[in-house]
Amino acid sequence: MSEAIGQCSCGGDIVETEKTYRCRECGKYVFKSIFWKKISKKDAVKLLNDEHVLIKGLKSKKKNKNFDATVYLYQEGDYWKVGLEFPERSEENDSEEVVAG
Ligand SMILES: [Zn+2]
Repeated sequence: MSEAIGQCSCGGDIVETEKTYRCRECGKYVFKSIFWKKISKKDAVKLLNDEHVLIKGLKSKKKNKNFDATVYLYQEGDYWKVGLEFPERSEENDSEEVVAG
């Protein structure tokens, strides 16, 4: 059940928990789902090794729309949070689009 799926950047084992992939040594973690998209174990291991990973098919709750973004982890106090990078910044994603129908 707590079989390691890979190694963290600190050298510790990464194990699967109910909601996260977590390092047994340093406690760094990433949620199994990011923006309603399930991430693969492979991507989770990369994220826990401070890699920026392009993940496709993330879902925006607001717009009910899929999007792709480069995902990375950063620490805020005791929490590990997910940051997003958009390689194409030509379109402003912040503008509200109203879709009729
Ligand atoms: Zn670790």
